[in-house]
Amino acid sequence: MPSCDVALIHAPSVYDFRERAIFPGPISEVVPSLYVFDMYPIGFLTLTSFLEERGFRVIILNLASKMLVDKNFNVPRFLKKINAEIYGIDLHWLVHAHGSIEIARMIKNLHPNSYIALGGISSSYFWAEIMKNYPFIDFILRGDSTEHPFASLVERVAKGVDDFSGIPNLVWREDHRVRVNPLTYVPESLDYVSPSYDFMLKQILRTKDLALSTPFASFLKNPITAVLTAKGCVFNCIGCGGSRSFYSNFLRRRCLALKSPERIGEEVESIAEKLKAPIFILADIRLGGRDRAEKIIRELRTLDVGNDLMFEFFFPVDRSLLNQLSRLGDNIYIQISPETQVERARFAYGRPYRNKTLEKMIANSTRSGIKRLDLYFMTGLPFQTIDDAAGIAKYFEHLLNENDAAGKLEAFTAPLAPFIDPGSVAFENPEKFGYNVYYRTFSEHRNALLEPHWKYILNYSTKWMNRGEIVEASLRAAERLAEVKQKYGIIDKETLIAVKERTSFSRESLALIEGAMKRGEDRHSVINSLRDRIIELMEEREFVLKRELYPKIGLISSLRPIGVIKGLVRILL
Ligand code: SF4
Repeated sequence: MPSCDVALIHAPSVYDFRERAIFPGPISEVVPSLYVFDMYPIGFLTLTSFLEERGFRVIILNLASKMLVDKNFNVPRFLKKINAEIYGIDLHWLVHAHGSIEIARMIKNLHPNSYIALGGISSSYFWAEIMKNYPFIDFILRGDSTEHPFASLVERVAKGVDDFSGIPNLVWREDHRVRVNPLTYVPESLDYVSPSYDFMLKQILRTKDLALSTPFASFLKNPITAVLTAKGCVFNCIGCGGSRSFYSNFLRRRCLALKSPERIGEEVESIAEKLKAPIFILADIRLGGRDRAEKIIRELRTLDVGNDLMFEFFFPVDRSLLNQLSRLGDNIYIQISPETQVERARFAYGRPYRNKTLEKMIANSTRSGIKRLDLYFMTGLPFQTIDDAAGIAKYFEHLLNENDAAGKLEAFTAPLAPFIDPGSVAFENPEKFGYNVYYRTFSEHRNALLEPHWKYILNYSTKWMNRGEIVEASLRAAERLAEVKQKYGIIDKETLIAVKERTSFSRESLALIEGAMKRGEDRHSVINSLRDRIIELMEEREFVLKRELYPKIGLISSLRPIGVIKGLVRILL
C-alpha cells in the first residue's frame, strides 16, 4: 500500500477480541456496529475531506471491520506496510479504551519515527491520564471539531517543524514535558467542512479492500449513511457525554454548532447521488429552532432524493411538523427515546415530558403517513426497578392497540451500557442522581472492558438496582418486548428465538462465572470453553436482532451507477 501523510485508524473496542472470551451481551444491539464497535466516527470522513482538499494524502483503515470480516487478518503484519507521517486513532467512544491504545502501542513499535495522535470525546476528557501513562501517544487533539488544528499539525510535521505551540486544542510532548495548548478552536457553524462521499470512493480505490474502507463491517449487507446536523445539545440527560454540561465543561462549547439547511441538503444530495441507502439525519433538527427545522424539511423536499430518510427527535414532535415530514415522501422514519413508561424515571433522567404528550405524538404520527415511529427504551434509570423495565412491553402493547399501529410503531430496549459517560452529570455527581460509579479512571474503564461478562463491564449501579438487577431487568425487558413484537407480527419466530438464546446465555454464563468467583477460581477460564458459542451469539445472532433497526437494502442494490461513475471521474481528474 502506498505511503500517505495521515493514516486514520479505527480499532476494535478490545484489540485482541478474537483471542479472548468476553460476553458483552446487548451493549451494541441498537446500533449498526457489532460488539467490537466497528463503525468509525463520522469525523473520519470530514477530517479526510478537509485534509485532502488541502493537498494531503489520507487513508482510512477500519481495522475493527476488517478483523471481524477476516478472522485470519494479521494486524501487525498489515500495519508494518502502512507508512504514514501521522497515525490518527479515534478514541471517541470510551468502549475503545483498550483497542485504540493497543493499536497505538503497536504502531509506535512498528514505526518509531512517526507520530501517533488521538482524538475524540473520550480522549478529550481523559487526556491527562492518557499522556501520563502511555508515552507512545504523541498528541491528543481535544474538542468536538479538530479539522483546522489537525491540518496545522499535519502541515508542521510535513515541514519537519517540531514546535507545536500555537496549534489550538493540541496536547503534545516537548522533551519530557506534556504541553497543553488552550482549547480555543470551537466553531459555531459546521458549514466549514462536509464529509465527501467521493473521498469514500477514493478510499476504496486506495485500499482495494471493502472491509478496510467501509464505515462498518455490515455496510455491505445493509448500508446506512448519516448527515450530522449539529454538535452540542440543549438537554442534560444525566448519563450522556453529549449533553449541554459535558460540552460546556469539557469541550468549552458555549453554544450549539449548527449546519445550515443548505449544507445539509448538499450532503444528502451527495449521498443520494451514489447510494439509495437510508440516510439518518443526526441530531434533532429543532435544536436550532423551529424555523431552521422547517427550512431543513423544505430543503429536503426540493431535493426529493427518494432514499429512506430517518430523523431522531429529543422530545415529542407536534402534528404540524409531523405533517411537514410526511410530505417528504412515503419513506420517512422517525425516532424518539422516551426511555421508560414511568414518568418519574424519565423526568429524573432528563427527558421532561409526560406520557400524554408522547402518546399524542404517536397518534399523530400513525395518522400522518410517517412510515414508522421507533421508540427507544432503556434500563438503568433513576427510580427504575426490574418490574418497571419488564413493564416496557406492556406499555408498548397498549400503544399498539390504542393506535392500531402494528407496522407503524416499533420499540427497542437496551441497557444504559456499558458506561454512564465520564463527564456526564451522573458520572460527575453520582450520589445526587442515585448512582454508584465503580470505575472513575481511564485505566479502570480499560480493564473493565476485559471482564468476561457485561455485568462487570457496567461502570455503575443505581440506588434502585444493583448491577445484577440491571442485567436481569434488561434481559426481562428484551424478552417481554420480543414476545409482544412477535405476537403482533413485528418480528418473526426466528428473531424471538435469537433474543431468547442470547438472554438465556447471558444468565447461564453469569452463573458459571460467579460460581467460579465464589470458589476462588479464575473467572476468565470458565468462559474460555464457550468462545465459539459467544462468537455465534454476538455475530450471527446479532445480525438477526438488528434486522428491524433500519430499512434494509444491500450495497449492490443500493448503488446508483451513474452517480458512482460521476464521483469516480471527479476524484480521478
Ligand atoms: S441523550 Fe439527551 S443530552 Fe444526550 S444528546 Fe440526546 S437529548 Fe442531548
